[in-house]
Amino acid sequence: MKCPVCKKGCIQPAIEVLAEIEQRYPACPACAPEPNLDKTAGSKLLPERVERCRSCGKATLDGVMLDALRLLQGYGLRDEDETLRSVGSPLIEVGYPLAYSPRLGPRSLILSGDRYSKEAAQAMLEQIPEIKGVILSRGVAGVIASGKKPQENVLMAGCDMRADISQSLFGETVIYKSQSRIHIEFSRQSAPKMRILEQLYLQGKLRDVVDGLAGPGTLGLMCVLAGAKRVVLNDAWLASVQNVLLNLEVNRSLLGIDEIEYPETSRSTVGRAPVLVGRAHGACEIEVYHGDLLRLFSRARPADICLIDHFPGANTAELERACRCCKEIVIV
Ligand SMILES: [Zn+2]
Ligand SMILES: [Zn+2]
Repeated sequence: MKCPVCKKGCIQPAIEVLAEIEQRYPACPACAPEPNLDKTAGSKLLPERVERCRSCGKATLDGVMLDALRLLQGYGLRDEDETLRSVGSPLIEVGYPLAYSPRLGPRSLILSGDRYSKEAAQAMLEQIPEIKGVILSRGVAGVIASGKKPQENVLMAGCDMRADISQSLFGETVIYKSQSRIHIEFSRQSAPKMRILEQLYLQGKLRDVVDGLAGPGTLGLMCVLAGAKRVVLNDAWLASVQNVLLNLEVNRSLLGIDEIEYPETSRSTVGRAPVLVGRAHGACEIEVYHGDLLRLFSRARPADICLIDHFPGANTAELERACRCCKEIVIV
């Protein structure tokens, strides 16, 4: 599938990602043991480099981060007392809860951090084969609160498209994210939300669901997998909604989708009045809206359950009032 960011084939259908995930990150029998470098030690105390495996060609995560640190030092962007941790957050291309440190093949890691220059980011992409993209981070991406200016990080080089595998008792989905524009959520952080969905499912409540602040679609699409008959996904942030539409396509066969339509298009980065940008038919009727949740029910039919997955600590009182027409509101 064509990637909307780099226009190359870096998007795989969910069934392929899931079928190959167990082979993606383990070491081969010839791989050297983990170097276990000290992440908080100044770089003077670290080796110059960690070699890739001669047999499988894969690198350790420490090895890639060390290469990035040395390269940033070469550009004067890190000093010799700085640590591996100073390089940034390593985001593997397909996020999956691993019991071991991943061994990385080509173009399998996206770096998100600060104090990068355009030249250094480009050099990382050219000289470190495992790096797929470099994101200059300014904070949490997306629309933090209604009416506030949205925040976007900057893709400095390469492609920022990556996926997280979401797991629940209903099964697994693959949720792609254009990561410079979508907030980073590790699988352990989304797990408590999945437990909430599982509880609702066991109570027979996941039939008719609105995912009001859907992001890239993690919870809403899991409700489809759980057998819901209607799911409405809404987000004000255009990047999120574009990711939802991509994820419908990626997870199409898993979700029993027969047909996807795109009735309307939306161009504003932050939506206000609801625009129906996608509709899918099949085992479940799915609607995707771009707009402010405060206005969603001026157009979408209210549901039995309205999920509100807000940023931690956000005040949801106004949203709850706007969603009162649904039978039950669940803050996740
Ligand atoms: Zn791409
Ligand atoms: Zn190996």
